[in-house]
Formats: sequence, structure tokens, C-alpha cells
Amino acid sequence: MKCEICNVRDAEAVYTEVVDGVAKQIHICKVCALEKGLDFLFSPEKEEGGFVCNVCGLTWEEFEANWRLGCTACYNVFGDKLRRVLESIHKSTRHVGKSPEKDREVFELKKRLEELKRRLSVAVDEERFDRAAKLRDEIRMLEEEIAKRRERRAKNV
Ligand SMILES: [Zn+2]
Ligand SMILES: [Zn+2]
Repeated sequence: MKCEICNVRDAEAVYTEVVDGVAKQIHICKVCALEKGLDFLFSPEKEEGGFVCNVCGLTWEEFEANWRLGCTACYNVFGDKLRRVLESIHKSTRHVGKSPEKDREVFELKKRLEELKRRLSVAVDEERFDRAAKLRDEIRMLEEEIAKRRERRAKNV
């Protein structure tokens, strides 16, 4: 794929530009990235997980606490990692949903869990991260609740 800025060189990275609240993915080459001040796309920290927004200085840890972005550039720094976090949440759903659930209460909880996870990915797609953070917390609580009920039932049987 060619760089969408110069249309000459091959794109080596993707970044997200937010225009009027709409996220647009742009494939970009290294030269154009440097020209646009997007050199963090190629910085080694990106690979190692030391995520810091070089525009507002927000760290991944700070972002992770309440999923609040400091500025629009943050999305480029944290977007990939965020997507990976979401993928892992979705994977855990599939795992949980494998065996048929006999416990009616757990079944209802799981249905709610699926719904919350669906809403979470919608919220992230729409970049409503404060809402996403609340959903993530609800998902965690619900997963704990399901685990507790399972444990209790396992002891009773
Ligand atoms: Zn280019
Ligand atoms: Zn920022």
C-alpha cells in the first residue's frame, strides 16, 4: 500500500486522524510521518510498551486508569494497544461461552456480559472512552460475579 500523503513511497505505519469526531485511518510512509511530527509511530518505545503521548505527555498507565485521552494525538499512541486490550476481552467471552450453561442465573449474567462487551467495542469505535472505561469496569465486576457463583456451585455439588 502506498503512503496516502505523498502517494509515492510505501506506507510503513497507520495512524488515526480525528476530524470532526470521526476517526480516519491513514497509511503513511516514514518520511511523511517525520514531516508531520508523527515520528512516535516509528519510535522504539512503541514496540516495548512504554507508551507516552508526545503531545500532551499522557502515559498508558494514566490513560488505563479511566480511559480518558489527553488530546487527539493520544489515539495514535494508545489506539493499537487499546485494540489489543479489547481483543483479549473478546477472546475471554468466547472461552466462557463454550460449554452449555445449566445454571440459569449464570446464564443470565453471561447474556448481560455479552451485551456489555458488544457495547464496549461500539463505545471504543466511537471513541467514547469515558463510557468505555465504565463498561470495562462493569465487565470486570460481572466476570468476577460469574466466577464466584461457579465456585460456590462447584463446592455444593
Ligand atoms: Zn509519504
Ligand atoms: Zn495526547
